[in-house]
Amino acid sequence: MYLQVLEEIAARWAAVAVAVSVHSLSCHPLLTFGTEEQKQRWLPGMLSGDQIGAYSLSEPQAGSDAAALRCAAAPIEGGYLINGSKAWITHGGRADFYTLFARTGQGNNPPASPGPGGRRGDISCFLIPGDQPGLSFGKPEEKMGLAAIPTTSAFYDNAEVAAERRIGAEGQGLQIAFSALDSGRLGIAAVAVGIAQAALDDACAYANERTAFGRKIIDHQGLGFVLADMAAAVAGARATYLDAARRRDAGRPYSQQASVAKLIATDAAMKVTTDAVQVLGGVGYTRDYRVERYMREAKITQIFEGTNQIQRLVIARGLTTP
Ligand SMILES: Cc1cc2nc3c(=O)[nH]c(=O)nc-3n(C[C@H](O)[C@H](O)[C@H](O)COP(=O)(O)OP(=O)(O)OC[C@H]3O[C@@H](n4cnc5c(N)ncnc54)[C@H](O)[C@@H]3O)c2cc1C
Repeated sequence: MYLQVLEEIAARWAAVAVAVSVHSLSCHPLLTFGTEEQKQRWLPGMLSGDQIGAYSLSEPQAGSDAAALRCAAAPIEGGYLINGSKAWITHGGRADFYTLFARTGQGNNPPASPGPGGRRGDISCFLIPGDQPGLSFGKPEEKMGLAAIPTTSAFYDNAEVAAERRIGAEGQGLQIAFSALDSGRLGIAAVAVGIAQAALDDACAYANERTAFGRKIIDHQGLGFVLADMAAAVAGARATYLDAARRRDAGRPYSQQASVAKLIATDAAMKVTTDAVQVLGGVGYTRDYRVERYMREAKITQIFEGTNQIQRLVIARGLTTP
């Protein structure tokens, strides 16, 4: 139900849907790995909408390779001292809390190029308040789309955080981060389907109005087939996220299906929105019509919460027999 609502919001305004999806992603660690006491304290504000969250995993040198993150949380009396930089934070500078992943192991001094595996257990998850002393933000990135939500860097300079703000066990951070992303990827898949549906609707409306060579352009089979392929891509993409969501609801493993849904839905959104611009012809390329915005919005869905190359890695790993 949540994903279907998200799809509807995305069809109207993708930035708002992404904001909702990223907020949910930020809440997931506390909901799934937090203690009862932590949930009692922080969850009501998150669920009521009073507080908006941000998810802080990526760093300038660690995007796809999240395990290479260097932001360090050094243990001190009663808590941790956090130092380091984070990148690409949706809601950066605006959020009420930041779900942060930082390194608590290896003497907080990881090698420059970690390689696969080995140091995954050194990372922990923290819930950082937005007004945390020692936390500051860069200026918002100038993005291709999603102008309504800021994306910034964050800088931790001797930020002292109480031990009670650690979510899950020390060293469990990467497991928590990936668990949240499995869920978040379904959100991005639903957002992508919403964008694609909106592009399909606009393209169909135009193709039923516009005439060329004495008939509606939809009645030219060459263009009707483009629209048919767009409709099929949207329906197929929707089915993949619903399939993964049903598995999640049933308590079955769904990590691989979430990656399939993210891959299929976001690639479909990119293709469908590009074709929508084509259906509108010259006006499709202008800002007078919405389809160019859909195309710019679709592009980011192939990149964040794991690029589609990373989704293929996850899917391939699931196909590998031990
Ligand atoms: C608008 C926006 C919002 C974002 N919001 C957030 C957020 O809220 N929180 C957060 O933590 N992060 C966020 N991100 C970061 C995002 O998740 C990363 O940009 C993404 O994971 C890719 O990392 P990267 O940019 O460092 O690219 P890189 O990891 O440098 O990848 C560059 C290219 O190499 C490819 N590549 C890398 N490794 C492999 C491999 N093993 N096999 C094949 N290809 C590979 C990638 O697919 C990509 O095409 C956001 C990014 C953007 C642009």
